[in-house]
Amino acid sequence: MILLEGKPVAQNIKARVSERAKSFLNTFGRKPGLAVVLVGGDPASQVYVGHKVKACEELGLASFRHALPEDISQAELNLLIENLNKDSLVDGILVQSPLPKHLSFSEVLDRIAPQKDADGLTPENVGLAWSGRPRVVPCTPAGIIELLKYYQISLERKNVVVIGRSDIVGKPMAQLFLQNNATVTICHSKTKALEEVAKQADIVVAAIGKRNYFTKEFFDRDAVVIDVGIHRLEQGMLCGDVFFKDVKESVRAITPVPGGVGPLTIAMLMQNTVTLAELRV
Ligand code: NAD
Repeated sequence: MILLEGKPVAQNIKARVSERAKSFLNTFGRKPGLAVVLVGGDPASQVYVGHKVKACEELGLASFRHALPEDISQAELNLLIENLNKDSLVDGILVQSPLPKHLSFSEVLDRIAPQKDADGLTPENVGLAWSGRPRVVPCTPAGIIELLKYYQISLERKNVVVIGRSDIVGKPMAQLFLQNNATVTICHSKTKALEEVAKQADIVVAAIGKRNYFTKEFFDRDAVVIDVGIHRLEQGMLCGDVFFKDVKESVRAITPVPGGVGPLTIAMLMQNTVTLAELRV
């Protein structure tokens, strides 16, 4: 079994991003800037935002952290986004999800200027990606493509099954595989005979948000398994959507959790921010 570790891939991406950030600073006299908006006190979201801010510092990007109270109104949040759209020091805007229930993420996405959309989730950027003219694409799926390339797992002519159809992972993941000449099946909570469908695949991406859900019965012996899920267990340890212990010796390659897909998401966010900064100037 090949263990598909994300760290070396993320390090490569970060080294390139750091070089680009340095040359941006030399040319334009300022760092590429990322605004990170966090609403409320969700502990996991606070940790993610902390990691994003730290990565900016490490790679020579400026970060602008906006921590807003849980009970902020949609109008106030919208106003902040509009101000960030106008702020010349901000190249990328990321609103950490999930938002509290009374707020609409779609309304936020409708307001973020597509030229500053660090996660590639606004309707314009989704449309550009599906038209084969990507500006920036969502970080987690983009990172997974980088991971597969790094480990020289070719995508052309492969049968890929993506399990999960969220806007942030499943759908953009399917689009990127299609772009790379794979044949893609998207599965979800209403898919019939999921186990049989998954078993046909050369590559499976598991992104359903259910801990240790996928056992070895779901995978062909030659399958490459990418686990996007991330869950904190009672003892503080992390696990994925794939039951790693059960599956690891029964497939060709698999990502660990932690240390698989996770490190790539942040690296790609940094890359997207620098790309947007370069495009804006
Ligand atoms: P989501 O809840 O928005 O979407 C889950 C999808 O899974 C839905 O489309 C649903 O139809 C499908 N699904 C649910 N149960 C299913 C089942 N039993 N069988 C088949 N399909 C089923 O989740 P998301 O935002 O896409 O995230 C998925 C997981 O990935 C979560 O654990 C999340 O924490 C994790 N995640 C990790 C990273 C990272 O950087 N590693 C980034 C984003 C999300």
